[in-house]
Amino acid sequence: MLLDAPLAIVDLETTGAHPAWDRITEIAVLEAAAGEITSEWSTLVNPGTPIPPAIQALTGITDDMVARAPRFSELARALHERLAGRVFVAHNARFDYGFLRHEFERAGLSFTAKTLCTVKLSRRLYPEHARHNLDSVIRRHGIACRARHRALGDAEAVWQFLRLAAADHGDEVLAVAARQAAKSATLPAHIDRAAVDAIPEAPGVYLVYGEGGAPLYVGKSVAMRSRVLSHFADGMRSPREMQLAREARRIDWQRTAGELGALLREARLVKELAPALNRRMKRPDELCGFVLDAGKLALRRLDDADADALGCLRGLWRTRRSALEALRGLADENGLCLQALGFERTGKGACFRHQIRRCAGVCAGKESAAAHHARLAAALARLKAIAWPHRGPIGIVENDRGREETEIHVVDRWCYLGSARSDAELGELLESGRRPRFDYDQYRILSRHLAKGNARTIELAA
Ligand SMILES: [Zn+2]
Repeated sequence: MLLDAPLAIVDLETTGAHPAWDRITEIAVLEAAAGEITSEWSTLVNPGTPIPPAIQALTGITDDMVARAPRFSELARALHERLAGRVFVAHNARFDYGFLRHEFERAGLSFTAKTLCTVKLSRRLYPEHARHNLDSVIRRHGIACRARHRALGDAEAVWQFLRLAAADHGDEVLAVAARQAAKSATLPAHIDRAAVDAIPEAPGVYLVYGEGGAPLYVGKSVAMRSRVLSHFADGMRSPREMQLAREARRIDWQRTAGELGALLREARLVKELAPALNRRMKRPDELCGFVLDAGKLALRRLDDADADALGCLRGLWRTRRSALEALRGLADENGLCLQALGFERTGKGACFRHQIRRCAGVCAGKESAAAHHARLAAALARLKAIAWPHRGPIGIVENDRGREETEIHVVDRWCYLGSARSDAELGELLESGRRPRFDYDQYRILSRHLAKGNARTIELAA
């Protein structure tokens, strides 16, 4: 099945690891169909730039050897034809495919192909093994490789691996695994493969735009590239994801140091851009909590205008109705009188809830107002305090594990003011003079993070 499809098993040698500035020094292509090699081709390529000594030592390909070899531009057209209509197979296909696309682009040709990565295939078929680089695969399967680190030698080893995998697992299993491994290669027609390849496998937010630059979707992930690709994977897709794949025209991204930064930016961007395919975070229009003001209980709305109002707020509800329901429960538990608190119409004498023994009877003179108030205050104190527990703004420090980058998320009274990567940026954020606006989504993200206990914070009181 898989081995019946026309394949091009490709291996490249290069001057380094980066397709933007490193160049190809050798190419090998094995054409295969119906499980047999039908053609074997390889050539040295003059990279037009010196090969670093370490790479000369690794591959054995020297500056002298490539001096008289053709430039890529001279063989681009013939190679393009050779690869046309074939599944592009390579060990770590992203690397070889990315390099070739860059070189073809420089030669004025656009190249796209279905790709199959034998690293991914090996991971699927032999998950019990930790390592899947070519050396490990060769050793594990006892593959004979006559010229390791030369293009043709490596391409042949990849082909041997495909044959062995087919023998081990049967063609059908291999075909299924290959389809799964190739999943990430299907991209919507309008999305440029190279643009997706350029997305780092790192934390951040990504923005998908549609026709005319209209924002379609904002997402976040700790591994952006995989997450973006997963939107476009074959198989089970929701109507929303099918629409995304159909309408996507461009993808933008912003890297963050970690997950918290990604969450905060996502919440902000969803609000600012209102992308068509994001689930609307329900607007908590009626956000409210209780305050005890001059001995009187009041339900205060927190129309996301002012963070100052948070001061002595107790509890936070999305609607007035749910707040009142909670108050009723609180009253039942503590024998409080809703009538005395002003939340039930005042009648003559004892309230109805006293008659059914839910109110301890402050309304009927059975207890003092002071005793009632003390129980109310104690009950409220057990509700969550929304008050900002710091003297002023704080910075939440987040580190990027791999790259040792640090971001400081500046937060004042639960409001996310922005993230800084330097002292200058930090100063700008603090001096921007923006009046913090309470935002329920930010509050939830931040309070969850700070409750973890291992959050690193610094006081930024001006
Ligand atoms: Zn009562």
